[in-house]
Amino acid sequence: MTDFHKTRARFCIPDGVIYLDGNSLGPLPAAAERRVAHTLTEEWGRQLIRGWNTAGWMVQPRAVGDRIARLLGAPAGSVVVGDTLSIKVYQALAAALALNPGRRVILSDSGNFPTDLYMAEGLIETLGQGHVLKVVEPDAIDAAIGDDVAVLMLTEVDYRTGRLHDMAALTAKAHAAGALTVWDLAHSAGALPVDLAGAAADFAVGCTYKYLNGGPGAPAFIYVAPGHAETARPALSGWMGHAAPFAFDRAYRPGAGVERMRVGTPPVIALAALDAALDVWDGVDMADVRRTSIALCDLFIKLVEAQCPELELASPRDGSRRGSQVSFHHPQGYAIMQALIDRGVIGDFRAPDVLRFGVTPLYIGVDEVRRAVAVLKRVMDGRLWDRPEYHKKAMVT
Ligand SMILES: *Cc1c(COP(=O)(O)O)cnc(C)c1O
Repeated sequence: MTDFHKTRARFCIPDGVIYLDGNSLGPLPAAAERRVAHTLTEEWGRQLIRGWNTAGWMVQPRAVGDRIARLLGAPAGSVVVGDTLSIKVYQALAAALALNPGRRVILSDSGNFPTDLYMAEGLIETLGQGHVLKVVEPDAIDAAIGDDVAVLMLTEVDYRTGRLHDMAALTAKAHAAGALTVWDLAHSAGALPVDLAGAAADFAVGCTYKYLNGGPGAPAFIYVAPGHAETARPALSGWMGHAAPFAFDRAYRPGAGVERMRVGTPPVIALAALDAALDVWDGVDMADVRRTSIALCDLFIKLVEAQCPELELASPRDGSRRGSQVSFHHPQGYAIMQALIDRGVIGDFRAPDVLRFGVTPLYIGVDEVRRAVAVLKRVMDGRLWDRPEYHKKAMVT
């Protein structure tokens, strides 16, 4: 049984804050603070350029990838870290399309995160081969998997509502129809058990600054199924994905397996923070995380519906069909969220009208949920959100 008191003690959460936004930016693990200081002074400071060899900087993307693979039900050597999620989406989709050259349809849903769809559109234009992006409602995905689909590209957990797709079932259906799959795990990795090997997913991508607590701008990850690893074509053929970067060959040769999905120089300091952040998962059982997350989200929904009837549930009521967040609609969602943040309850807002609360058992328990809803009730009952400063939209919501 996971000891959530222990995991909580590993995070630096400011006094007076109830942090319900770990689905957007995980809080600082104390170990990351120490590790980054060490990387700066001892590694960069003293070892200088030698650090690429002596401090293991060059192998970090794979070493950290292996630690993430363990949380995704993926074998060692199938995940590599680097770049941003948008770039990893592009790479995975490009490789998947190249493996299914007879077809032209990329199928996705309207709940997908905009950048995933933008990157697909950009790739289509760059390829100039007549691909089309077909976007249907989330509930219509299953029926839309036809024999024209080259790649099914979905985000497993909807960033707004938290609705969870059935990865295993949809992947099986896609394969039966002759399509490949690209799964975005941005709101899955560290949030719920993922079984990439069991689901036979072809490609997967995700970010590490959300539930994996790697820090703002932490690098993304990409998974390539072992069966594709030696044939997948890297669209972004940078030197770090070359079989021998320091041979400085004129001719590009893709690296072995998932190494070919590396592009350029790895972000060493960010990788150090992420590596230390992953220590938090040692001794954590994802089944415990899932069970606790569902119980906390159920409690959150029950309390909000009883005490704040103006808010309308936007997430699936059935915990097994939800990720690790709960969302509510309200036309004044933005101002309400600003009033909450001002009172130490930090969630976020997603246009047009969604208040979003990430529930992360590593550092959120029953007490935090009860206190957060009590603050929400005060804000709603007293219309405390109705102040001009809470209506002023910031750059990041
Ligand atoms: C958070 C998120 C992103 C962000 O992409 P970046 O390139 O890291 O900015 C992309 N896709 C999904 C589904 C996300 O939830």
